[in-house]
Amino acid sequence: MRSEAPLGAPRVSVYRVPTDAPEADGTLAWDSTTLVLVQVEAAGRRGLGFTYAATAAATVIRDTLAPLIVGGDAFDLPRHWDAMRRALRNQGQPGIGATALSAVDLALWDLKSKLLDLPLASLLGEARQSVEAYGSGGFTSYDDDRLAAQLAAWTEQGCRAVKMKVGGDRERDIVRVRRARAAIGAAELYVDANGALTVPQALDCATAWAPLGVTWFEEPVSSEDRAGLALLRRRAPAGMAIAAGEYGWSPAGFRALLEGGCVDVLQADATRCGGVTGFLRAAALADAWMIPLSSHCAPALHLPLACAVPRMARLEWFHDHARIETLLFDGAPRLTDGRLSPDSARPGLGLEFKAAEARRFAI
Ligand SMILES: [Mg+2]
Repeated sequence: MRSEAPLGAPRVSVYRVPTDAPEADGTLAWDSTTLVLVQVEAAGRRGLGFTYAATAAATVIRDTLAPLIVGGDAFDLPRHWDAMRRALRNQGQPGIGATALSAVDLALWDLKSKLLDLPLASLLGEARQSVEAYGSGGFTSYDDDRLAAQLAAWTEQGCRAVKMKVGGDRERDIVRVRRARAAIGAAELYVDANGALTVPQALDCATAWAPLGVTWFEEPVSSEDRAGLALLRRRAPAGMAIAAGEYGWSPAGFRALLEGGCVDVLQADATRCGGVTGFLRAAALADAWMIPLSSHCAPALHLPLACAVPRMARLEWFHDHARIETLLFDGAPRLTDGRLSPDSARPGLGLEFKAAEARRFAI
């Protein structure tokens, strides 16, 4: 029998890290990324979790979620998840509410594994010891040389697939996709329109890009347009997968995409969908529908999960987040021969927050 480990008050802090160059996709542009960090202690150990979200998530954590878990048992994670979700009912469970819940759940799983002195991947149970990653960036704000250099660098590091942003100007996108194809040799080329296109535009692009070896078309239309995604999935050229799921905020959100026949690959983001708990539920749904699952962004957080879930497709090695996680955390994973492996000597998520280095980014 384990002894009870009462949870302390979660501590929340927020960091805004400038990008290394202006970044943009088909529907947004940004020059910094905000990380909301949660740290929570029990029985002398400290767990950490984070989300990439607005500072408003920190307020939700402090005001609404933290009081619910203080004094609770550090091992009773489903109980805390349910209580936090219930408490968000009137504020909104999706969006900011879900990012706040995700950060706390991640911190609780990190803490639980540390209390048991196990890497999170071992606590969950490994399906594999390492996971293949795809390089992801190729922002629409890059000039063509920078685009080509970034994608080529990932293939040189062993990635067998890379992803670029599309969805701006059609003619320019064709030039960019051709340039990317020329830069990456035999690697698979993924494209992400971030919901920028209409169904006819997306069909037109899919037809134009298929001969260039585009094997993954992410959010060709808005993920809210499930009928549009389903139609594109049926009509896409052979060998081109339709991917979506980064705005799955709850198990029901993933169920809707799967039930609607919207995706060939389901994406899930543990910093949005309810942390480790929410990600495992997304994985169970994908398994039931026999659809591969890929993690979205935040590679350091997803690595242990990607080693544990069934039907895992490639993990996203997102340029902006890989950079931030290396900057702010000791133990952040490194790309080796296109793969990531958890450090079996480090308990929990395997991350140590670099508080001193992070101070200059604090807001
Ligand atoms: Mg995307």
